[in-house]
Amino acid sequence: MKKESLFHPLGDLKQLQDRKLRHFIRNHLYPFSPYYRGLFDKNKIKPDEIRRVEDLSKIPFTSKQSFIDLIRENPSQSNLAFLLQPDSEVIRKFLPKKELLRFLLLKTLKGKKHLQASLEKEYRPIFLTATAGTTELPIPVLYTSFDLENLEVYGKRIIEVLGIQKNQKVLNVFPYAPHLAFWLTVFAGLAGGIFMLSTGGGKTVGTEGNIRTLLKIKPQFLIGIPSYVYHLLKTAQEQKQNLSFLNRIVLGAARVPPGFKRKVSGLLQEMGASDVKIMGTYGFTESRSAWVECPTAIEISSGYHTYPDQEVFEVIDPETGQVKGEGEDGELVYTNIDARGTCVLRYRTGDLVRGGIWYSPCPYCGRTVPRISSDIVRASNIKNVQLSKIKDTLVNLNNLEYLLEDKEEIDDWQIEITKKDQDPYEVDELILYVSLLKSTNREKFTAGLNQEVLAQVEISFNRINFVSSEEIRERTEIESAVKSQKIVDKRPKN
Ligand SMILES: [Zn+2]
Repeated sequence: MKKESLFHPLGDLKQLQDRKLRHFIRNHLYPFSPYYRGLFDKNKIKPDEIRRVEDLSKIPFTSKQSFIDLIRENPSQSNLAFLLQPDSEVIRKFLPKKELLRFLLLKTLKGKKHLQASLEKEYRPIFLTATAGTTELPIPVLYTSFDLENLEVYGKRIIEVLGIQKNQKVLNVFPYAPHLAFWLTVFAGLAGGIFMLSTGGGKTVGTEGNIRTLLKIKPQFLIGIPSYVYHLLKTAQEQKQNLSFLNRIVLGAARVPPGFKRKVSGLLQEMGASDVKIMGTYGFTESRSAWVECPTAIEISSGYHTYPDQEVFEVIDPETGQVKGEGEDGELVYTNIDARGTCVLRYRTGDLVRGGIWYSPCPYCGRTVPRISSDIVRASNIKNVQLSKIKDTLVNLNNLEYLLEDKEEIDDWQIEITKKDQDPYEVDELILYVSLLKSTNREKFTAGLNQEVLAQVEISFNRINFVSSEEIRERTEIESAVKSQKIVDKRPKN
């Protein structure tokens, strides 16, 4: 499969994946990953036993907790967790004979320096992104030159699937940070040969600066975090700006509610745009990759177009670990098959996908790659909420967020989690701060929302406070924070 192509007969893709998985485990992961060599040995798995994607089920899962445990074990070398680390000793000891011969041949023919340089290019980490780590240990992942070349491949594919043409321009308002979203977007622009300006979002140039830039370069595409993109467009609309040139919005969010899409599309139409399309993206730090939807009508999602020559996605039953079939709900599990640097096998994302993975060609763009349903509930990094009625509402908080984003009469919102009477031994309380769009009846809104929230997510707000949109902007620190504070946890830490 050519690295640029996302069209390919399905049977060939499966064979390609089997071959790459085999090669990756035998020649890279098992010899050079201390963690996975240990895991294979402990479970008496021989690297040669993993011959096909189906054989993955023999390997125990890796999780975020595995990362955290490794980092805690050796905090001064946290970057080494899951890193491929070849040295002369492990090369001699664990590399298959055939590969070893290839190394020796290279040394004899081209010299020691050449071999050294090619190993460095492949294995020496030169780039890092990390998880945001607002409530937990940030997880660092490392990239080598080899991985940065892959990042360019993903970037090109993203540009292609989103349908960005060479004569179109992109404004990137992801916050400037060592995060995957910002850097992959930058790499996509460079690799795709697209004019892109990366402003760093609100924190670096302010919303006024972003609006000025929009008006100056007149991009067709705007990409960023949903809350900030909304804030930027709302501010421009309040200033009655003409943004008729802008009609493609790409959001750094796996699940974008139709109501939110309609609100964004409405704002753009008020500013003169037509034929607005809004695309979601799914990605996570540990994968060093992201997947996008192709352009469709606002009510439809194509799902996320994956890269089967680079990774294997499985959907599992989160309780039993059993692998699910096509289109079935479950938790997304990710495996590298063509990477260096920080590599994972069967990495449990904690993200739950309704509708699973589809293997049929995309009905909208015709690409033949597996697609992940965009009905994804991300793993929350907010600690369990203990309400008086329901004990564990981890997933419900995400669903609650989705429900609020979907409401077209809501301008902006924030949820605050506190303890009843500020007593650390009491139950948790959920307080909603909300600003409504004009012409909304508050009593009607409150009654309707409470009913709907209770029915859909089985929790309810202890209080709903109506405030101005300015107050929400201040509360969520939308202008200054790297990640806007949509849900704040004010419970005492214990
Ligand atoms: Zn498509």
